[in-house]
Amino acid sequence: MSGLLSHDPGADPYVPGHGDLSVDVLSYDLSLDYTVETNALAGTATLRLVARVPLSRFTLDLYGLRVTRLTVDGAPAAKYSQRPGRLVVKTRTPLAAGQELTAQITYGGSPRPVPGLDGEAGWEELADGVIVASQPHGAPSWFPCNDRPSSKATYRVSVTTSSQYRVVANGLLTGSRRRASTTTWTYEQTEPMATYLATVQIGRYVERVAEPAPSGGGVRMRLVFPPELTAQAAATFARQGEMLDAFTRLFGPYPFPEYAVVVTEDALEIPLEAQGLSIFGANFLAPGWQTQRLVAHELSHQWFGNSLTVAHWRDIWLHEGFACYAEWLWSQESGGPAAARHAAEQWARLAALPQDLLLSDPGPAEMFDDRVYKRGALTLHALRVTIGDEAFFRLLREWVARFAYRSVTTEDFVSLAEEVTGASLRELFTAWLDVRALPALPGAGETGESDGAAGTAGTTTPSVPPATL
Ligand SMILES: [Zn+2]
Repeated sequence: MSGLLSHDPGADPYVPGHGDLSVDVLSYDLSLDYTVETNALAGTATLRLVARVPLSRFTLDLYGLRVTRLTVDGAPAAKYSQRPGRLVVKTRTPLAAGQELTAQITYGGSPRPVPGLDGEAGWEELADGVIVASQPHGAPSWFPCNDRPSSKATYRVSVTTSSQYRVVANGLLTGSRRRASTTTWTYEQTEPMATYLATVQIGRYVERVAEPAPSGGGVRMRLVFPPELTAQAAATFARQGEMLDAFTRLFGPYPFPEYAVVVTEDALEIPLEAQGLSIFGANFLAPGWQTQRLVAHELSHQWFGNSLTVAHWRDIWLHEGFACYAEWLWSQESGGPAAARHAAEQWARLAALPQDLLLSDPGPAEMFDDRVYKRGALTLHALRVTIGDEAFFRLLREWVARFAYRSVTTEDFVSLAEEVTGASLRELFTAWLDVRALPALPGAGETGESDGAAGTAGTTTPSVPPATL
């Protein structure tokens, strides 16, 4: 049995019709040829897969691109068929659970974003280049994949395009070969990565490499940007090395060998994270807290979201709540208001909003609702006040270390919190995660004074507008 149901719900109700639970992909090797002017993509994808159950067919996700050839272990597949968003492959012989196979798929067309319950995502043309922003369902816009966050794989991505452009993808640049008018850029991502975090950025960019931060573990930081934005980009990301230092101290070692930031010439609605890099629109190049909190937010996703990735989208607070709390921690680290001050303000804001959202299962339409971010961060703050700073940061570091590069669930975090503290914390987590009404914020009475923040009444801290990152 393939595990496929006739109505093909896919693997995750938040992204219906995507993903196949009957197989895992171990590695993707993508060779892409792309022409920016015509948005023409021609690719060969080599996927190493393993069957999780006995099967004779499996399903991949591929949107708006046509497959012209498909082999399994070097021989033509028994049969393959494409229907919107899906590529069904029948193997010549049944596979046992645990058996591996290699599928090679030649495909092409004009890539475009994939529509979904939360808007469009995926490969998108810029004024002069490409951005790939796939969270949560856009990966099939550019390569055949098993599009569920719980299937993490290694990647090798090779992109050939006009030499006028620079190409950035996940992982380390292992080669750039220039021919007459084109250059082939090859990147390798050896730490497991979820499909939605795979990305390609193409633009007329230059690159500046920042010195590793003193205690950041020697992590190389690359800044990739249009040359006319050199000064603004340098100023906006000037403190990123310090952030990396602070987060390394608070959360544990940075999980990947490098961190890159790509600045697009185009304005973007929101900055966004991919594995090992983040993408900011030119409109985010500005000094001040409103930008710095986003720089911190995206960087922190490398720990919370990219190394540790939710197994199911309903647990999205494990990404966004933690990244939002990282903003508040950076605020304090950089001499701004303490996390407790941000918590008190955001608690007051949420208390005035409709309390109809369940943090443990917000639903696909609300998964990037600002309340998921803020209540997620407040859950962590409530936990911190309850168990104390020493246990709280020990828990964060243990969370990051024990589940590095793996898929995680809310239950994993709750269980670990109880294990690390030896305390029963179910009641606290139930109130914050599984009940719609906003619980009281523990320690709220003393926050103003104890964190050195001047009285909270009449605060001048800029209010934080809703954002989806
Ligand atoms: Zn985020």
